[in-house]
Formats: sequence, C-alpha cells, structure tokens
Amino acid sequence: MEKVIIIGTGCAGLTAAVYAARANVEPLVIEGKQPGGQLTTTSEVENFPGFPEGIDGYTLMDSMRKQAQRFGARFESDTIEDADFSGPVKKLITKNKTYEAKTVIIATGAAPRFLSIPGEQEFFGGKGVSTCAVCDGAFYRDQEVVVIGGGDSACEEAIFLTHFCKKVTLIHRRDQLRASPIMAKRALAHEKITPLWDSIPEAFVGDEKDGITAVQVKNVKTNEVSEVPCKAAFIAIGHNPNTAPFAKQLKLDENKYIIPENGSMVKTAFPGVYVAGDCADHLYRQAITAAGMGCQAALESIRWLEEQEG
Ligand code: NAP
Repeated sequence: MEKVIIIGTGCAGLTAAVYAARANVEPLVIEGKQPGGQLTTTSEVENFPGFPEGIDGYTLMDSMRKQAQRFGARFESDTIEDADFSGPVKKLITKNKTYEAKTVIIATGAAPRFLSIPGEQEFFGGKGVSTCAVCDGAFYRDQEVVVIGGGDSACEEAIFLTHFCKKVTLIHRRDQLRASPIMAKRALAHEKITPLWDSIPEAFVGDEKDGITAVQVKNVKTNEVSEVPCKAAFIAIGHNPNTAPFAKQLKLDENKYIIPENGSMVKTAFPGVYVAGDCADHLYRQAITAAGMGCQAALESIRWLEEQEG
C-alpha cells in the first residue's frame, strides 16, 4: 500500500509531490491524459512569481516535475475511474487495477469546455476545431482563424495566434470582454485581432477533405446569421472540473467542483483525502493558487500520516 497517492500533474499535483517527496513519503503521482496539466498548453506565463521575464508553461511544469523526482516522487500513467474512501485504506480504481493508499490528494484539474454545436466533434482534432492555440496554431500560418470566448484564455489564445496567422477574429457573445483589463487591452489593440461582438457560434461549416471553412454565427441583438470565413476555430470558453470519479463520494457544487470541508481549503469529509487546484477552486483558478493548495494538501496529508503512525 502507498503512503500518499497524488492524482494529477498540474501545478497543484506537482507542488504536492515536491512537498510530500521532501517529507520522505515517496509519493506515487498518477499522471492522467494531460501530463503537466493546463499550463502545458499556455504559451507564456507572466504571473508566476520568480520569473520577471515570464516563462513558457511547458518549461515551468517540466521543472516542477524534475524537482519532485529529485526528492523521490514516482510517476505512473493511468486514469482513475472510481474511488472508495470509506475505509482506512483509500482505493482508487482504474480499468486494470486498484491502487491502495493511506492518504490521497486529488489534483485532477479541469478540462476545456465545448460549445456542443454542429460540426464541433466532426472537425475537432486536426480538421480546424481546437481548444489549444499553442498546440495547433502553427498549422495555420498565414491563414484567417477565429477564437471563441471573451475571457483571459480567449485573449491569450488570440494574441498567441497573431504570431502565425494573418487575421484573428475574436467572437464573443457580449459587447465587452470578461478578460482582465491588461489582457483585454492588449488583445483589442493588436492590429491582427478583430472583435466580433454579440455573436454566438451556431455551427462549424466545412467538409471532410479540407476541414472547416467558416463559423456560422448569430448576432444575439439582431438575430442576423452570417458566416465568418476561417481555416481554424479555437474554442476558449472556460473549463469543467475533472471530478466525475469522485462524484459518488465527495460533495460537488452545481458546476461539479469539489467543495472542500471541515473549514479548510483542502480537506474533504474523509480523513486522509485532500483536494487541491482547479478541481476544487472555481474562484481563483490560477497556477500559483493551485500550487498553494497543493502545498497545503501535502502538509495536511503528512500530518495525518504522522498522527496515524504515532
Ligand atoms: P472564463 O474567465 O470563465 O471566460 C470564459 C469566456 O467564455 C467568457 O467570456 C464567457 O462569456 C465565454 N463563454 C462561456 N460559455 C460560452 C458559450 N457556451 N458560448 C460562447 N461563449 C461562452 O474562462 P477563461 O478565460 O478560461 O479563464 C479562466 C480563469 O483562468 C480566469 O480566472 C482567468 O483569469 C484565468 N486565466 C488567466 C490567464 C493569465 O493570467 N495569463 C490566462 C488564462 C486564464 P461571458 O463573458 O459572457 O460569460
């Protein structure tokens, strides 16, 4: 049986791994479908303290992983599908095996939200519809593309795409961005970025051979329907927390975020089970706050282990 299992390798999981490993409990870190978490799809991280010139997301996460490994954290690739926290031995169930641990830190993060409109699934993954400009932007050099959304992510994606693309249309459902003032100003001031206000995408238009050729949008004020020609569309409308395996056991809010309990940011109703990062934080959702929660969860789990072991 493991002493500590950490689920997730974003900022929360890897910070928990650094702290748990330095406490000599040799944590096992379970790495899901997106090693390194959401920051690996971020171009430039400008607000993580300690990097005055900024740092690219992949490098930051790779450094955190190496730091955890240096102190003895072990990594395994797997996907937790179910969990049982009812007994003193916590069980994490995957397709092929059941992991057992004295304490568990859930740091499963969040996944991009989709629009659920015609063409989205059909053209997703190589045919023009994407949720990651850093991953796919370079394929659309000198092309016209769109970004959908009005938050920091949408602005960041749009700005990143200007490095490659001829024109970026930022499609937003209102007439004002939700993004922080500095990001909004930077996006709107860019000569290659054109906002399309009050518009909701209704369908991705294209064909099997060439992928998408346009996004069909409706103006919510006039009900007018039009097409925005593009070779790619980047969806940046927020995220859903990855909490389904724990829904039977832990308290979730209406958007499926885990609700921490016992007056703590990281405790759950089950002693020895802790949460950290975006799976339990709908408010701040920052790399640094996720890292802070990862640290707290690791310290709590180490304290709990010490209590159990006397
Ligand atoms: P967000 O702030 O929740 O913004 C989502 C955007 O998508 C909103 O503008 C929303 O419109 C729009 N939207 C949601 N559902 C939609 C739908 N079905 N159809 C059309 N539009 C839809 O998400 P985010 O931009 O991913 O940011 C999440 C958090 O991470 C924020 O706290 C943000 O500050 C942070 N973040 C920070 C950075 C950075 O500092 N470098 C970068 C990325 C993200 P409405 O505005 O009308 O609701």
